[in-house]
Amino acid sequence: MRFDIMTLFPEMTDRILGESIIGRAQKSGAVEIHSHNIRDYSQDKHRRVDDTPYGGGMGMLMAAPPIYNCYEAVKEMADRAFADKGEIKRKVVYMSPKGRVLTQAKAAELSSLDNLIILCGHYEGVDQRIVDEIIDEEISIGDYVLTGGELPACILVDCISRLLPGVLSDKECYESESIACGMLEYPQYTRPYEFHGVKVPDVLISGDHAKVDKWRYERALEETERLRPDLLSHKD
Ligand code: SAM
Repeated sequence: MRFDIMTLFPEMTDRILGESIIGRAQKSGAVEIHSHNIRDYSQDKHRRVDDTPYGGGMGMLMAAPPIYNCYEAVKEMADRAFADKGEIKRKVVYMSPKGRVLTQAKAAELSSLDNLIILCGHYEGVDQRIVDEIIDEEISIGDYVLTGGELPACILVDCISRLLPGVLSDKECYESESIACGMLEYPQYTRPYEFHGVKVPDVLISGDHAKVDKWRYERALEETERLRPDLLSHKD
């Protein structure tokens, strides 16, 4: 899958997504991530990308022309990259606190795309005409407001990427995890056996896999009842 991130701060997204598992996934070719600087597409002689909002009010707004020029160029680059594939599945999303809050199900749905173009806003956001003309969907990462869409974009790319073939070592790595499995995950332990006087539960060193599975299921249920009872009310 190819991600194209349109941003004013490409170093930020490149830096975060160049590390750890997603960084390795890029090196192995399991995912392709390209950050594009919207400022490079400004036709203003000072490379300006923002302006004051019509009607007055606080702050600056990202203007439509540089974003649109960037979008056209990105689409062309991605089309060239997929030239031998014919028809491709693509979506353009805007990271925005106004969007539907990201869920595991949404990440799974988007993981079937060939190309996801992500627009990151900054300042007071972007000119509405951009949203109306090029955006398929607005996605929020939660009911709070951040200074820019770069961290939300990285969260979206990370969340989708780990579902793609070749990114994690095993499907089981994400299928048994909190939320993905419909509940919270059971508590886990590693060495040392005893830490600050607390020992690892006996069942985990019993070697009896059926007992371990039963214990894990019961603990997962307990954790979910305690911390996220709302998840259980969605289960059949
Ligand atoms: N004026 C906007 C509003 O009230 O809806 C908020 C703009 S916010 C300060 C600047 C940018 O940060 C947004 O354009 C968006 O890209 C990003 N952003 C902020 N909070 C976000 C969230 N919860 N989820 C996704 N993106 C967010």
